[in-house]
Amino acid sequence: MVVSSFWGCDNQGPDSDKPVNNNPPKVEETKLPQKTIPPKITQEFTLDDLTGKVSLKENKQFIKIAGKHASKNGMYMRAEAYDSFVSMFDAAQKEGVNLKIVSATRPFGHQKSIWEAKWNGSRKVDGKDLSKTIKDPKTRALKILEYSSMPGTSRHHWGTDIDLNNLNNDYFEKGEGAKVYAWLTKNAAKYGFCQPYSPKGKERPHGYEEEKWHWSYTPISKQLTYLYKEKIKDGSIAGFKGAETAMEIGVLEKFVLGISKDCN
Ligand SMILES: [Zn+2]
Repeated sequence: MVVSSFWGCDNQGPDSDKPVNNNPPKVEETKLPQKTIPPKITQEFTLDDLTGKVSLKENKQFIKIAGKHASKNGMYMRAEAYDSFVSMFDAAQKEGVNLKIVSATRPFGHQKSIWEAKWNGSRKVDGKDLSKTIKDPKTRALKILEYSSMPGTSRHHWGTDIDLNNLNNDYFEKGEGAKVYAWLTKNAAKYGFCQPYSPKGKERPHGYEEEKWHWSYTPISKQLTYLYKEKIKDGSIAGFKGAETAMEIGVLEKFVLGISKDCN
């Protein structure tokens, strides 16, 4: 399926990321940032959908990813996002590019186990036990936030976001990985996928470090990003070690919304 009816995530030209506006411009409208224009909400999403409190086996909107598309069994995606991924996978394969999903939907509990393992030092970060090397909670949270989301704030909760092939940027710099990344940057938008964590800099000053492996199905994830901003507050992020730092860090503004303009 080729997605063409949604604006954004479309690298056809310098202005193609701007929403189509058929109304004559009004002075006050031009002052509004682009992302305040709400996407069309195509279905009902609950707070639990936004924060990953979902049972993947029971929720009919999620579908199991087939073995040939994934590095391991038992992963799930939203059906529509997976459908489009399969079209992208087939097109890539015809051009000699092999896409492999290495991580897909991760509910709250899964993200909590990743976060707390890094928080309490049972999983090393840059070879270090952060519970020993960083005592200040905010500083420790920010270190983990370079690449991992706080539970309740991850795009991996949504069923729209996937990690492809390899979790190191270096892999995508040369050889097979460079071929995969070049194909994705050229073609993923045709299937509705964008790279939320583009290089940090002027265009994307806040949020996670660049992730060349993380791709998002925008026809749904743009809706969820918008709803997240509308319905969730930093103060409601809770239920894991270090959650009290969310407000001080401004996790919603800096991390959930700190994404590439292609995905907004
Ligand atoms: Zn990811």
